[in-house]
Amino acid sequence: MGIRFPGHERSIIAPLPEPIGIVTESTTPLMQQYHAVKKQHPAALLLFRLGDFYELFYDDAVVASKILQITLTSRNKEKGQQVPMCGVPYHAAENYISRLVRAGHRVAICEQMEEPGPGKKIVRREVIRVLTPGTATAATLVQEKENNFLAAIARGSVAHGGRVKAQRMAASGSGEGSTQGSLEMGLTVASQPDAAIGLAYVDLSTGEFRATEFSGGKVEFRLRDELGILRPREILLPKPRTLFSVAPSSETNAFGAVETRLEDWIFETNQAARLLEEQFRVAVLDGFGLVGHPLATSAAGAIVHYLRETSSIGAGKESSNGTGPSLRPSGAGLEHLDRITYYEQQEAMALDAVTVRNLELIEPSGGDDASATLLSALDETATGMGARLLRRWIIRPEISLPEIEARLDAVADLKSRTVAREELYTALGQILDLERLTSRVTLGIVSPRDLLALKSSLEKIPQLRCLIGAAGDAPSPTPSSGAATRPAASPAPRLENLAHEMDELADVHSLIARGIDDDPPALANDSGVIRRGFHAELDELRDITKQGRQIIAAMEDRERKRTGIASLKIRYNQVFGYYIEVTKPNLSLVPADYERKQTLVNAERFTSGELKEHERKILTAEERVIEIERRLYAEIRESIAREAPRLRRTAAAIGQLDVLVNFARIASARHYNRPEFTESSMGVAIGESAGTGLKLPATNDPRGAKQGKRGILMISSGRHPVIERLLEQRGERFVPNDLYLDDETQCLLIITGPNMGGKSTYLRQVALISVMAQMGSFVPAAQARLPLVDRVFTRIGASDNLARGRSTFLVEMSEVAGILNTASAASLVLLDEVGRGTATFDGLSIAWAVVEALHAGARPRTLFATHYHELTELEQLLSGVKNVHVSVQEAGSEIVFLRRVEPGSADKSYGIEVARLAGLPQAVITRAREILRRHEQSEEKLTEELSPGPAPPIPQQTSFAALDASVLDALRSADLNELTPLEALNLLATLQKQLR
Ligand code: ADP
Ligand code: MG
Repeated sequence: MGIRFPGHERSIIAPLPEPIGIVTESTTPLMQQYHAVKKQHPAALLLFRLGDFYELFYDDAVVASKILQITLTSRNKEKGQQVPMCGVPYHAAENYISRLVRAGHRVAICEQMEEPGPGKKIVRREVIRVLTPGTATAATLVQEKENNFLAAIARGSVAHGGRVKAQRMAASGSGEGSTQGSLEMGLTVASQPDAAIGLAYVDLSTGEFRATEFSGGKVEFRLRDELGILRPREILLPKPRTLFSVAPSSETNAFGAVETRLEDWIFETNQAARLLEEQFRVAVLDGFGLVGHPLATSAAGAIVHYLRETSSIGAGKESSNGTGPSLRPSGAGLEHLDRITYYEQQEAMALDAVTVRNLELIEPSGGDDASATLLSALDETATGMGARLLRRWIIRPEISLPEIEARLDAVADLKSRTVAREELYTALGQILDLERLTSRVTLGIVSPRDLLALKSSLEKIPQLRCLIGAAGDAPSPTPSSGAATRPAASPAPRLENLAHEMDELADVHSLIARGIDDDPPALANDSGVIRRGFHAELDELRDITKQGRQIIAAMEDRERKRTGIASLKIRYNQVFGYYIEVTKPNLSLVPADYERKQTLVNAERFTSGELKEHERKILTAEERVIEIERRLYAEIRESIAREAPRLRRTAAAIGQLDVLVNFARIASARHYNRPEFTESSMGVAIGESAGTGLKLPATNDPRGAKQGKRGILMISSGRHPVIERLLEQRGERFVPNDLYLDDETQCLLIITGPNMGGKSTYLRQVALISVMAQMGSFVPAAQARLPLVDRVFTRIGASDNLARGRSTFLVEMSEVAGILNTASAASLVLLDEVGRGTATFDGLSIAWAVVEALHAGARPRTLFATHYHELTELEQLLSGVKNVHVSVQEAGSEIVFLRRVEPGSADKSYGIEVARLAGLPQAVITRAREILRRHEQSEEKLTEELSPGPAPPIPQQTSFAALDASVLDALRSADLNELTPLEALNLLATLQKQLR
C-alpha cells in the first residue's frame, strides 16, 4: 500500500517487511494471529496479507496452488511439520482471487489494518471481505453480460411456517442422498411432497433483488425451471436439507451453483422480516408485496443475513458464519440493497429450462458454436445494462399486451428515425456500466478512475435525451432522411418515459469534476487522487512536500560543494528515513557535524541537524496529505452513494433504451417486421385450462382478455433468426416459410419429410418468433399475426438429443408428461421426433396417443415433427389436425432439399436417399429399397384397418389394438407355467407370423 508521488520512483511510505523469521516457530505471534483468523473463517480460503503478498497456508495452500497453477512451497516447520504455503502478489491479487471464486470457492481476504513501522512488533490484521461465488462484485469477478445471482431457498408449508417447522424439517432431513422417488427426475420431495417453496435472489453488482413463492402442485418442477433460467452462482439452503430429494448437490450442480448451508434459524420468517425491514429502512414490508409470502420473506432474509456476514468491510469482528446469533448491526456496503420486488412466475411467458435449452435461447445446445443462440443473434447492445436486460427479456418474454405494444411502438419509432437511432447507438457506446459502477460506489470499492468513468458516462445523458426528442428537451434536429417526417417533439411514449427516468445527476457530476484529479492513480489509497483547488489545506501541504523535495535537492547540492564530495547523495528509505550517503573513499572528507546512522559495505550513511529538521517537516506534511486525501475521497464516495437510487434508475432507463435501439437497428438491418397481436387468448388460459395448475392472476390481469375467442397464428415468410444469419455467413440463403394455425380447422400440424429437410428448423422458428415478439422485438417475417402465448414447450425425441449424454427415453417421456399436464389453450407446443427414443412401434403408439391427448385436452397450438408417416393418418381422424411436409425435389437419383413447407404429407421418408448421399454402399442401398417396398405394402394394409370409413369427429380410443387382438388373446390365455421352452418358442413364432 505504498504511497507514490507521481514522478518519484521510490516509495515514501511502504509496508515494512515483517521479520519473517517469526514464522518458523509455532508459537510465533504471526502464526497465532493466522490461526485465530482462520478459525473464524473455516470454510473459506484465507488470503493472509504479509507485506507485498497474500499468503495461503496448510490445506488452503494446497487447494489454491492447484487452481492457480502456482508453486506450492513450504514454510519451514510448524511443530516439526512442514507447513504448505503459497502466495500471490497483492497488486495482482484481483485476478487470482477471481479465479478462486470462479472455481467455486469462498475467499476470505485478511488485510493489514495498520501501517507497519519501526518498533511495531506485529501489525493488526482483519478479514475485510469474504468473497463467494454469489457475492462477487468486482469487475473481474463477474461476467459483464450476465447477472451474478445469489439465490436462497426456503421450504415449509405456508400454513405453519416458522421455527418449529424448520426444526422438524431439519430433523427429518437426515435421509439425504436417498434416490427414492427420483424417477421423475428427482423432483419429488420425500418428506413433504406439497411443501411450498420460497425463492429469493439478488445480483449484488446491480442491486436487483427479487423473491417469489411456489405453492400448490409441481412446486419442484417450477423451482427447477426458475433455477434453470436464473442459473445462480450460489444457493443458500438451510442445514441440513438438500435442494431436491436426490443425491446431495447433484441437482444444483447441474446448474453450476455452489450450495452454501446456513443454520435454519436464519430462515425463520419473523427474524427474516425484521432483518429486511432494517435493511430497507422501512417499518413494514407491505410496499414490496411480501405480505402473505412468508417463505419468500425467509429466503430474502437469509440472503441479507449472508451478505452482511460476508461483506463486513473493515468490521472484522466475530464473523459467526451462521454459527451464532450475533448479527452485525450495519450492512456495510449493502446500502444499495434498498428494495425487493415480489413477483409471480406467471408474470412472464413461461419457458422451462428444457425449452430454453432446446430453443438455444442463451446457450448453444449441441455444438459449441456460441454464436448459434438467439441471445447472440439479437445482442448488439452497446452497454452492459442493455446486454443484461436483453438476456432477462429473452428468458422472460412479456405476457402483458400493453407492455409489449409499448416496446414495439418505441422500436417502430426508432426504426423510422435512422439518424437519431444511429447517433443514440454511438452515444450509448460511450456509456460505461453505470449499474456496476454505482454498486462499486456503494460497496466502497470504487477507484478514482471508476469515478471518472462515471462522470464521463453522465455527460452523455443530455445527448441521449435530446436524441430521443422528449418534450421539454431541445428538439432533435429533424433528420435529413425523408422517412422521419414525424414531429420531432413526439417520440413514442415509452421513449419519452425513459428520457424522463434518466437523470444526468449534475450534482454528482460536478462533485467528481471538482474533486477528482484528471489523471488519478489507479488505487484510491495512492496519493494524487484529489484535484488541486478542492481543498485549501491539502494544497498547502502538498506545496510543502514539494518544496521539501526541492529543499533536499538544494541541500544535496550545497553539501557536495561544502564537503567536496561529488558523489554525496541524500536519499530516503523506510527504515532509516532521510540520510546522507558517502562512499568509503570519501569518508575522510565528512564534516564533523554529520552523525553516523548506518554502515554499508561500500558506504556510510549520516544525518545532520538540518536534514533532521527537513525530514520532520516533509514527513508530517506527507502524512497529513495522505490522511486528508483519504478522508476527502471517502466523503466524495459517500455523497455519491447517497444518490445510488437515482443512479440506478438512470442506469435502468439507459439499459432499456439500449435494448430498444438494438431491436430497431436489427429490425432495420435484417428486414424484420412488427408483429401484430391477435385476440388475446389468455382468457382461455385462465378460464378453461384443463386442470393445468397454471395460476394466472385473474383479478389483476391487465390484458383485458376476452373469454372464448382464440387468436390465430399466422406467419408469412417467416425465417429462423439464428440459422438465417449462420447461412448468410456462408453465403447461403434461408428459405422463408409460412405458417397458419387457429383453434378450429388447424391447431395441430404434423410435419413430415426427409431427414435434414428443415422440420426442426421450422418448428423452432415459430417459437423464436413468438418469443421475440413478446420481448417487444420485431420479427424475421414478412408479416406475423400472433396470439399471446403463455408458455412455450419444446421437446425433442431422445435420440436427437443423445449428444448431451443425459437424455434418455425416460426423460423424454417425463417431459412429454409435463406438457400434457401443464399446457393450456394459450400455449405453444413443439414436439420434435417425440417417441423416437424407443422401438418403432412403441414410439409410434406413444406419439399417436400424445396427439390424441393434446387434441382431447387443452388443444394448445402444436407443431409435431415426426418421421412416423403413420401419424399423418390423424388428419383424417381428428378435426384440427393438418399435415404439412418439407418438400424435396428428385432430380434423377439425386434429391434436392427445397426447404419449403407445403400442405399434405410427405410420401416417403427419403431416408434411403439421404443414406445414399452419405455414401452407403450401393448394394446396401438397393437392398434397403427392396425391404422398404415390402414394408410399404404391409403398411397400406395396416392403414386400411385403422381408418374404417368416414372419420368420427373425436374418437376417444383410437389404437392399434384391433390389429393385434387375436395375438393378444393368445398371449393372455397362454399358461407360461405349463409351457416347455420349445412350446414357448413355437408360440412366439406363430404369433409373429400372425402379425406379419
Ligand atoms: P430436419 O429436422 O428435418 O432433419 P433440420 O431442421 O434440422 O432438418 O434442418 C437441417 C438443416 O437444413 C439446418 O441445419 C439448416 O442448415 C438447413 N435448413 C433448414 N431449414 C432451412 C431453410 N428454411 N432454409 C435454408 N436452410 C434450411
Ligand atoms: Mg430434426
